[in-house]
Amino acid sequence: MPQLMIDAGPTAPDALVTRTGGVPLAPPGTEWPTCASCDGPLQFLAQVLLSDVDNSTGSAEQDRGILALFACQNDPGMCDDWAPTAGGNRALLLPTTDLRPLPLPSLSVDEAVLVLGAVRAVTTEHEDAPDYDDAREAWATRTGRPDPAVLGQLGGTPAWIQDDETPLCPGCHHPMPLAVQLEEGPDHYTAMNFGGGGCAYAFTCEPCTRAVLLWQC
Ligand SMILES: [Zn+2]
Ligand SMILES: [Zn+2]
Repeated sequence: MPQLMIDAGPTAPDALVTRTGGVPLAPPGTEWPTCASCDGPLQFLAQVLLSDVDNSTGSAEQDRGILALFACQNDPGMCDDWAPTAGGNRALLLPTTDLRPLPLPSLSVDEAVLVLGAVRAVTTEHEDAPDYDDAREAWATRTGRPDPAVLGQLGGTPAWIQDDETPLCPGCHHPMPLAVQLEEGPDHYTAMNFGGGGCAYAFTCEPCTRAVLLWQC
């Protein structure tokens, strides 16, 4: 049963919750990631507490880490930030101990290149539907809220826009489970850029503490 991410309105930019926008939380010493293509700092998109994601093993008690997602917006369209291995994006799977806001890099770049224009908290709801796309539609019909209030899904099966691109873990070479599928967001002015109407997909291998991000449109 798809676990939908529902827009729960604004929250603090440094809140220790699953959210889109704001600033990433990370252990001290973590560096703001940069783009392998243009060397510029990446834009922070979202963080996901993996304890919020349905777990096939049912071991919800253990600390599963926090996922921080970034993609390049220095020169949109030029750095292959859609690709899982080109270095134009980054997915960090971090421990949840000693988290603090990651300082913005002290560079002369527009803050809009580094952070989104809105911070959105997320609540999750399970919708009884065969897949994510059906669940999104069913949720909107049932609640009377517009479907852009659905920000994505946690875990489950990716609803691919193009071909199945499930990555293999760079560590153990097994197919990686989906951690989160993200919509661009309900407001054009504060949306993430996944090519216009696209979705991002982040996968994690918790035993290897590896994560991979890609997007399609
Ligand atoms: Zn770049
Ligand atoms: Zn692995």
